[in-house]
Amino acid sequence: MSTPSKPYAGLKASLLTQHGKESIICPQLADSNGLEVLHVEGYDTDKLGSFTRDIPRYGSQLDAARKKARVGMELSGSILGIASEGAFDNDPYTGMLPWNYELVILIDDTRDIELIGFFGGEAQSASRQVSNWNELNTLLSEAQFTTHQLVVRPDDEYHLECRKGIRDIASLREAFDWAISLSKSGNVFVENDLRAHTNPTRMANILKATQDLSRKMNSLCPECRSPGFWVTERQKGLPCSHCDAPTNLPVANIWSCVKCKFKKEEVKSGPLKADPSKCQYCNP
Ligand SMILES: [Zn+2]
Ligand SMILES: [Zn+2]
Repeated sequence: MSTPSKPYAGLKASLLTQHGKESIICPQLADSNGLEVLHVEGYDTDKLGSFTRDIPRYGSQLDAARKKARVGMELSGSILGIASEGAFDNDPYTGMLPWNYELVILIDDTRDIELIGFFGGEAQSASRQVSNWNELNTLLSEAQFTTHQLVVRPDDEYHLECRKGIRDIASLREAFDWAISLSKSGNVFVENDLRAHTNPTRMANILKATQDLSRKMNSLCPECRSPGFWVTERQKGLPCSHCDAPTNLPVANIWSCVKCKFKKEEVKSGPLKADPSKCQYCNP
């Protein structure tokens, strides 16, 4: 839609993270955007929320990402800041599968804009309450242990003490014995560790969200040349080929600029009529 360009080439941005996300975010934005991303430490991002329920998240997923980006910019004196934040829920289709939403934000104070990359995909997030070692063993393949790490705690998911980052059988055995000795109910709660560096499935989803951000950074508004010209709306209503009623299939994408008010409609290519199997009147 817009001319290919790299408006962030040769610039520097901060990235505040402590869970190894720099290993995928930095090379992606260097390769695709020419942006040099500097890893910033010195602030415990778990203070803004942790997946082990010990610290509630700071606001929404976007609030937390924005806050991390701002802290990183303050610590480094940078005018461009990047941060990422994940969330877990059930999948939006059947509601049966664990789902992971990842968001990567770029705050650009030179242009006074925010660009946000998203990705939603299957999560590796298994959990079970067990009362003995054999029961625990049946969870291990479902939890993709040992490529994915585990968290163990006494009793149930709400117990305040836990052992995180368990990645081999010897430490798992030791953590299980520790948890059962503290348990009041005789149970131990075991689950996947959801921190990025302990969960490669999540790391792959963060990469996809970074790639989404990367494309938006290179997409310029035809009107004001700002980065971040992107599809913000999909218009539905492709007419049924049999009865002509509007269906839920898309007819056009609406592209919008994050900086000015420019919008552009892009009519979808492909068939001009929908198959009657997609029509709520012909195939209810
Ligand atoms: Zn119809
Ligand atoms: Zn614009």
